[in-house]
Amino acid sequence: MTMPQGTTTRCLLCGSDVQQHHPAQPGYRLGSTFEIHHCAACDTSFAHPMEVDSAIYDAIYAHPDEISGYDRYAKYARSVLEVADPLALLADSEDVYWSIRACVEQLEPGARILEVGSGLGYMTYALLKAGYNVTGMDISKVAVENAKARYGPHYQEADLAEWSVQKAGEFDMVLMAELIEHIPDPLAFLRMAAKLLRPGGRLVVTTPNKSHYPKWMLWESDPPPVHLWWFSEASMKVFARELGLGIAFVDFTPFNRDHGAQPLARIHMPGLPTQGAKLDEQNRPLAPEALLRAERARRPRLYPLRKFQRSAVRRFQSLREWIRPTPPGRSSASLCAVLTKPE
Ligand SMILES: [Zn+2]
Repeated sequence: MTMPQGTTTRCLLCGSDVQQHHPAQPGYRLGSTFEIHHCAACDTSFAHPMEVDSAIYDAIYAHPDEISGYDRYAKYARSVLEVADPLALLADSEDVYWSIRACVEQLEPGARILEVGSGLGYMTYALLKAGYNVTGMDISKVAVENAKARYGPHYQEADLAEWSVQKAGEFDMVLMAELIEHIPDPLAFLRMAAKLLRPGGRLVVTTPNKSHYPKWMLWESDPPPVHLWWFSEASMKVFARELGLGIAFVDFTPFNRDHGAQPLARIHMPGLPTQGAKLDEQNRPLAPEALLRAERARRPRLYPLRKFQRSAVRRFQSLREWIRPTPPGRSSASLCAVLTKPE
């Protein structure tokens, strides 16, 4: 069902009134489209309809090597086994893992860590090799069995709702790497995760960072329904407020300095969705040529010319943000929020 443009709806995070924006964001599966709503009050974008499609996840886990965006995860899963310090390898490869290392380095020896959504299992493994007391947890039986076969017995197939009761207060740190943007009700999910923390414990949440991009960009993230949300620092502050947790953000300045922070080099057509489908209509990975064709096909007619004319001046001003080189700063394309339970 498509809502008429300009429809007002309710922000699913903070409850403010929001306007629909992109009416036709290409979905993860070729031919599907989603509406994108953006809440100015909490600077959060979310997809409509908000539904998880398990067939898409089955396809991703069946062919991670062939799907752009997931292929690098399959590489990490192999390469951590080939090095003496897998945590250093990961931290040096991506801002997300660098920020997780920065958080765990502050823990006391012997601290108990839970990774929720351990997926392929390599982050849990890297933390184990670095000497931390860590358990990987995933709702997927296949993911847990594969991780155990590869890295050892430190993984459990479990449901967060059950664990939040059975193991309440048992962990010093709960990690969630690139997970909450996939969850239809992230507030309820984080509430369950927070129950696992001891008083003073920390919930470490990484997610693609809307705050890192110009305000007019409404969706620079995997297409829905794989990613259902694009969160900003302001979104994370809503979570902290609702859950009664303290909040701080990891400062990426050292990572950006050491890795020669790249200016946001890609110039997008302002307002246009930036990512297209990754699977065909039968949930098979799109071959690179087909991916390119799909990218080209969706560009010309998505947005009517008069919309561009109306906003041309504003868009031109925004474009200048792209042309100016970005100095190494505190933010990155992923954000890492540290939510602390009161003592
Ligand atoms: Zn909101």
